[in-house]
Amino acid sequence: MNVLSLRGIRKSFGAHVVLRDVSLEVAEGECVVLIGASGSGKSTLLRCVNLLEVVDDGVVELDGQDITDPRVNADEVRSRMGMVFQSYNLFPHLSVLQNITLAPVRVHKVARAEATEWARAALERVGLADKANARPDDLSGGQQQRVAIARAMVNSPRLLLLDEVTSALDPELVGEVLDLLQGLREDGMTMILNTHEMGFARSVADEVCFLSDGVILERGPAQQVLGAPQEERTQRFLSRLL
Ligand code: ADP
Ligand code: MG
Repeated sequence: MNVLSLRGIRKSFGAHVVLRDVSLEVAEGECVVLIGASGSGKSTLLRCVNLLEVVDDGVVELDGQDITDPRVNADEVRSRMGMVFQSYNLFPHLSVLQNITLAPVRVHKVARAEATEWARAALERVGLADKANARPDDLSGGQQQRVAIARAMVNSPRLLLLDEVTSALDPELVGEVLDLLQGLREDGMTMILNTHEMGFARSVADEVCFLSDGVILERGPAQQVLGAPQEERTQRFLSRLL
């Protein structure tokens, strides 16, 4: 069964139709990379999956459950996903460990001892076990983003949503975050990510989806969509990046 299934997603802001008709299936362990021009709706799509936006039409299924049903508990659904943003959004007044345990303890009512154990395991996974008591400001941007990724993984989510997670980083710090994501993919983590890094997209994507005009205009293996795009608009988008 697919971890995630989107069918006929439609989302407008006022008169501006951002997502017209988006359908997407993500199998367990698959890494899907969304590409597309700025403003094409990549972030909006991830936000719809995470219920930060309410879709106008269509269905989002997580492990076969329709999570767009108004009766679902959004916090419970979000506990089964992790989301990471371009700006890491860590709380500066909390330690690294407290940043990671905050949501499990406050929102999901996990016992503190258990949340702490999970957080230490997540920090270990991102290679920052020794930074548990540091403050975010004491870390580099790359380390802060790795903490944000640890925070997103603390509940052992079914799915990670990663929105331009390297865009705010100095170039020399991008590599450590990409290496971490590559490792998570090799561990079998199911992921959807938006990126402008085509080299990275090529190395991690099981499927690349080009979003244009509110639809996924072209999709397929990275070497096909990035290397030999069929659609003229995909070709134009990629040629502008060179
Ligand atoms: P991308 O991530 O591909 O750059 P976004 O999903 O951020 O694109 O935005 C798609 C379009 O939707 C843009 O035109 C943006 O201005 C608009 N948009 C996004 N969020 C909102 C919002 N909350 N209110 C109004 N317009 C929005
Ligand atoms: Mg965006």
